[in-house]
Amino acid sequence: MSSIHEECGVVGIYAPVKDNIAPYLYYGLLSLQHRGQEACGIAVTDTGAKHLDVSCIKDMGLVAEVFSKEQLSTLRGNMGIGHVRYSTTGESIRENTQPLVLNYCKGKLSLAHNGNIVNTDELREELIRTGAIFHTTMDSELIAFHIAKNRVHSESVEEAVYKTAKKLKGAYGLVIMSPKKLIAVRDPFGIRPLCLGKKDLTYVVASESCALSAMGAEFIRDIEPGEILTITEDGIRSDYSLRQEKKAHCIFEYIYFARIDSAIDGVKVYDARMKAGELLYKRHPVDADIVTGVPESGIAAAKGFAKASGIPFDLAFHKNSYIGRTFIKPSQDERALGVQMKLSILEEVVRGKRVVLVDDSIVRGTTMENLVRMLKSAGAKEVHIRISSPPFLHPCYYGVDVPTNKELIATKNSADTINRIVGGASLEYLDVEDLSEMADHLPLCTACFTGEYPAGEK
Ligand code: SF4
Repeated sequence: MSSIHEECGVVGIYAPVKDNIAPYLYYGLLSLQHRGQEACGIAVTDTGAKHLDVSCIKDMGLVAEVFSKEQLSTLRGNMGIGHVRYSTTGESIRENTQPLVLNYCKGKLSLAHNGNIVNTDELREELIRTGAIFHTTMDSELIAFHIAKNRVHSESVEEAVYKTAKKLKGAYGLVIMSPKKLIAVRDPFGIRPLCLGKKDLTYVVASESCALSAMGAEFIRDIEPGEILTITEDGIRSDYSLRQEKKAHCIFEYIYFARIDSAIDGVKVYDARMKAGELLYKRHPVDADIVTGVPESGIAAAKGFAKASGIPFDLAFHKNSYIGRTFIKPSQDERALGVQMKLSILEEVVRGKRVVLVDDSIVRGTTMENLVRMLKSAGAKEVHIRISSPPFLHPCYYGVDVPTNKELIATKNSADTINRIVGGASLEYLDVEDLSEMADHLPLCTACFTGEYPAGEK
């Protein structure tokens, strides 16, 4: 139940024969809603039309709020891209919603971006130097303008994308639509996920594999770090010129962001979370009567802890999934009430028991304090806290909204002190050394725990 915000999610589809792809994009975005709830959008085009144009609908709000059936029916075409957004750069306003659509020398270029670029100053200065007066702070817009600029002196849009991507530092999963081509690009470190699926002759790309199934497609493979994948009526082709040796997949996708039924770079998210729970028990065992998890992201790790320890797993919390969003910002005093609105406790499960409570992270500590209080009020004898990630100590520059150092409780307090603050009987974190085993020994970005930033800092 992390208060770290999600990033963004992208989808793209190229259907040589269908002209009603908008509902597929809609379903893909619905399944990626966990990655961003502030805004969303869809842009489509018909590659066979005489007068090529792009229809785009985007707005602030959830996918189900922004698109009506009538609106979707106005989006006609066989190629399209979509985006769900949580603003990690740029203000949270309608103008910053994606996909971006801009005019360039070949017609219209559309782009949706998941991730965050760290060298935006350089990119902006270059545009200004070459004559474009450009003051945006939005990294996605800078990418789109660089592609448009490079297209003038390139043989193809892929070449313009390559020239642009070579200059980008940071994390990106991009879907780009030129008048006739759909292009997907993943940053050379593979920090953000991106995968490819297929149904009949239709190709689909998405931030997570759960979106491929939602769009009726079968997972083919992850798009490789540094791959530029182009989809046209002739099929797919890949350019690997950006490829490099060093990879660094974001560990937090496995810990918290990605949906539990997704698989990223060959590792199932559910398996990784189970493994984290098992490793937590091996390093930090405890005697207890039940293991429980904080819904949703703490549940799989709690099951792993239960499996490794032999202590039975039980559900102590019920999550109210129908609260929706509230636009009223809670005061500090109202936060505790907010947690109780979202989660209610099953007293009979915890009364008189020594409870192991597993969650994915502790950010400010307020949520954990409330959860421990709820368990104790329901009659739990002891609450042993186990966190399936190491302590958060550093900001993320790659598209994840980790609060500032000042707000992160672990930057100033040891595990013992935090345990005292939140009222637990004991508190232990997953060790940094265990992250690699958790993600099946993939090369990882773990910068928010270690401060070692693979793709540079802002
Ligand atoms: Fe993921 Fe943390 Fe790296 Fe950001 S710093 S990409 S959240 S592992």
